[in-house]
Amino acid sequence: MSRVALVTGGSRGIGAAISAALQQAGYTVVANYAGNDEAAQKFTEETGIKTVKWSVADYEACAAGIAKVEEEVGPIDVLVNNAGITRDAPFHKMTPEQWHQVIDTNLSGVFNMTHPLWTRMRERKFGRIINISSINGQKGQFAQANYSAAKAGDLGFTKALAQEGARAGITVNAVCPGYIATEMVMAVPEKVRDAIISQIPVGRLGEPGEIARAVVFLASDDAAFITGSTITANGGQYFA
Ligand code: NDP
Repeated sequence: MSRVALVTGGSRGIGAAISAALQQAGYTVVANYAGNDEAAQKFTEETGIKTVKWSVADYEACAAGIAKVEEEVGPIDVLVNNAGITRDAPFHKMTPEQWHQVIDTNLSGVFNMTHPLWTRMRERKFGRIINISSINGQKGQFAQANYSAAKAGDLGFTKALAQEGARAGITVNAVCPGYIATEMVMAVPEKVRDAIISQIPVGRLGEPGEIARAVVFLASDDAAFITGSTITANGGQYFA
């Protein structure tokens, strides 16, 4: 029987590439999403990957959703915490709402998804948790105090939980993408995009598949000795 992987925010952008790469590697994949039904439906039609809708910011919804996926699909072996949002503003203009939305999704969302699954994985003595952080959680970014704080928090969470999971056969790792050619990045004006690219030593944006293949490796048996680590995939833009 193939292993089961649940990818949050798994029907668009980097998450869609992760879902597809895991499927190609032989996993039974379930992709969670928040609200874009049209994208989710299209993704399922194109890939055959089941999509499930709830907000990672809602603990009860995560617990219920995970229980339902395990009942309908099977025990979840791999959790990829990929769902994320931005609400950028320079700090003097940042509202409490912008702060909380980003923390609730990008940091608490990782707790909300991992916590209900943790005991199940401990009992089964196997698990792979992979958290998608960001270069901006490593180095900080102007107008992203909320996002940088949440993504840095994800790295602390990864390192702490790796220690707790080690004896139970659960590895916990992070991937920090740099600038990746998703809708979000391609939507910025060409001039701004060119300025971003000029700061990337390899001279281009990353491809979603380049993040996805790092995730597939961390999920594999070959990565059993790797836990608490961060794979930095940013074209040489920043060395953590
Ligand atoms: P997209 O905006 O393309 O996709 C985000 C996905 O997350 C969507 O599937 C969305 O669902 C889902 N999502 C958002 N909020 C929630 C929520 N509350 N509950 C469940 N799902 C949610 O993002 P990217 O692919 O660009 O980014 C993916 C991850 O990679 C994020 O964590 C991001 O911070 C990180 N990252 C991205 C970089 C980049 O250059 N793109 C760089 C570094 C890190 P729906 O489709 O329903 O809206």
